[in-house]
Amino acid sequence: MILPLSEFDIIARYFNREGLAARDDARFPLGIGDDCALIEVPDGCHLAVSMDVLGEDVHFPADAPADQVASKALAVNLSDLAAMGAEPAGFTLGLTLPRADEDWLAAFAEGLVPLSFRHDCPLIGGDITRGPLSVAIQVHGFVPRGKALARAGAQPGDLIFISGPLGAAGLGLELVTGRRRFEGHAPAVLGRLERAYYRPEPRVELGIRLRGLAVCAIDVSDGLLADLQHMARAAGVEMRLELNRIPVSPDCETVLGYNGALDYALSAGDDYELAFCAPEGKRKEIEALARELDLACCCIGVVAAGGGSVQCVDRDGRDVPAPKAAGYRHF
Ligand code: ADP
Ligand code: MG
Repeated sequence: MILPLSEFDIIARYFNREGLAARDDARFPLGIGDDCALIEVPDGCHLAVSMDVLGEDVHFPADAPADQVASKALAVNLSDLAAMGAEPAGFTLGLTLPRADEDWLAAFAEGLVPLSFRHDCPLIGGDITRGPLSVAIQVHGFVPRGKALARAGAQPGDLIFISGPLGAAGLGLELVTGRRRFEGHAPAVLGRLERAYYRPEPRVELGIRLRGLAVCAIDVSDGLLADLQHMARAAGVEMRLELNRIPVSPDCETVLGYNGALDYALSAGDDYELAFCAPEGKRKEIEALARELDLACCCIGVVAAGGGSVQCVDRDGRDVPAPKAAGYRHF
């Protein structure tokens, strides 16, 4: 008789293993296996903590490949550390599963490995229960005191930057959910759109290097307009967004044309590029940093005095209405 896997079998077989779980790591005197993990926070640093919960049919299709779900869940968490200028340390994992499917678990655990390895961010604990599929990850990172890149901080005269093109992940979601038909487009284009949705690149190195250059930052998860709005509100300023400077995803443009692609760049989420503000005097340094990190980072507007809003402007600086005023909201 084959007995179903217990919670402890699952942890031992898939999660508490070499290459994923913390081992002989000075940052973690205790990892998986005790009542708590212990974290050694370096002197002079804050512990930065963030959590994202991804639910079936809300954040990923029910039939999404397990490795993609895992990778995305870790990526969006690392992106929050990036947006804070924090260096990843470790993560915990809360899994709710309808059943203990070994193939799914093996693929899921495998999907965590590349980003965990690349960002030196091992698994240090978690929990597993039965229920509808949901993946909760909490990341822990370190940031020197006084250096964190909060959402507030922009001042009139600062420039607004974005770390790369936008829109592909939002269109990728339409592709993986089958909500839109994509006949006649090259498989390479569709492959890149799907990848943009499932495998966003958390801008961790950029976030760390922006300490002392940027005055505020946010990762674009809900759409550029919505996320700039958060920074504008936090600082009580107006963000003047020059529409013609927004880098739209070339693949999005291929499928939708420029205007359609611009809509996605403004309002679709899931790209996880960093939006940040910096004084004009830091522009050269930021451009050099972007070249060094091979990022298509660019200036998309300026900060003005105001009351916490985003205003779209044309190339002559004249106010124009936002093409769409969305941003993804769950409720
Ligand atoms: P408790 O009963 O104290 O909640 P558990 O039996 O749930 O402890 O977990 C035992 C150990 O395994 C703990 O150290 C916990 O952090 C770890 N753990 C549980 N689930 C996971 C998981 N999905 N990934 C990594 N570690 C896990
Ligand atoms: Mg438990």
